[in-house]
Amino acid sequence: MRKKIVAGNWKMYTTVEEGISLVNNLIAGLSKEENLNKTVIVIPPALHLTSIIQTAKNSAGKIHVGAQNCYFEKEGAYTGEISPRMLSHAGVEYVILGHSERRQYFNESNQLLAKKTIAVLEEKMTPIYCCGETLEQRESGKYKDVIKAQIEEGLFDLSAAQISNIIVAYEPVWAIGTGKTASPEQAQEIHAFIRSLFALKYGAAIAEQLPILYGGSVKPGNAAELFSQADIDGGLVGGAALKADDFLGIINA
Ligand code: PEP
Repeated sequence: MRKKIVAGNWKMYTTVEEGISLVNNLIAGLSKEENLNKTVIVIPPALHLTSIIQTAKNSAGKIHVGAQNCYFEKEGAYTGEISPRMLSHAGVEYVILGHSERRQYFNESNQLLAKKTIAVLEEKMTPIYCCGETLEQRESGKYKDVIKAQIEEGLFDLSAAQISNIIVAYEPVWAIGTGKTASPEQAQEIHAFIRSLFALKYGAAIAEQLPILYGGSVKPGNAAELFSQADIDGGLVGGAALKADDFLGIINA
């Protein structure tokens, strides 16, 4: 049985103080949960990481911290970049890679993401590798080809052991920040498709263990139905992760 995961991507929102207050509110909301049977991850802007990691230490292990991006080199003359080594030494456990906003605005390719994925794994952190089609790609009917290429080119150089340490997030671009959610059936179709790609390459047992999150306008009101689908193992949440009540509502779903 795969454990459910709820990850909140704060994008470029909140000051450090606002972020700390958000995490304190999450800690208060989760304090009644004796046996939290899901993994909760907050993913603030890079500047906030050290403070948020400190704050999350008061959560009795209920809140984990991730980063939104990193570079693939360990160190060097790469002004403005942050390395996986820096993140892991700061206490970061997860790193989002290939979010559609990184692909769209910063031209991140599957090939670049393949390098970043390996670098993150080498530092013993868990990549949350994002894939998903644009509206145009969905309407053209070629969306499965797009997702297949994102998965194969970004991840299929990894060994079976490495694949056992990644999380995949399916985020249809047309559903991110738009209020339009993929229907549970649409999301389930793609999650099952993604799992079948891993089964073909790495075998059924590894594919069965792979956590695949859905992202795209997840809200407290639609989370339960999405998360009840056979191949949806939780959510990568944007907007609704910025309000403690909404994020707690999604965690409880
Ligand atoms: C995201 O940023 O990954 C996301 C899914 O955003 P939203 O929930 O706001 O659509």
